[in-house]
Amino acid sequence: MIKKADIFLGLGLIAAAVLALLFLGGGDGEAMVTVRQRGEIVYQGPLAQDEEISLAGDFHNVIKIQSGEVFYAHSDCPGQDCVKMGRLSGPGQLACAPNETIVVVERRESGVDSIAG
Ligand SMILES: [Zn+2]
Repeated sequence: MIKKADIFLGLGLIAAAVLALLFLGGGDGEAMVTVRQRGEIVYQGPLAQDEEISLAGDFHNVIKIQSGEVFYAHSDCPGQDCVKMGRLSGPGQLACAPNETIVVVERRESGVDSIAG
């Protein structure tokens, strides 16, 4: 049996969770993903925004941003070290040396609204 009060309680919890996510994602130091290939920025966007980035080069990388995590979803480079590096949900970096690609997650300081370069 589901009572009306239970539904309201459930909705309240969901609303609280959403607010918490918004607060964490949009507060100070929003996590930003920067993807570089051979030193050039090929993608830049918030970690909170789902995205799929396909990179050609000597090899083919597919980098995914999903549910606040970024990872190499696919690569045809030898060794597949980049895919094995796993997922990043906070500041750090992943790289595919054979394809000269690097994924950097960093917290953008609040009050800084432009990115050099
Ligand atoms: Zn790789």
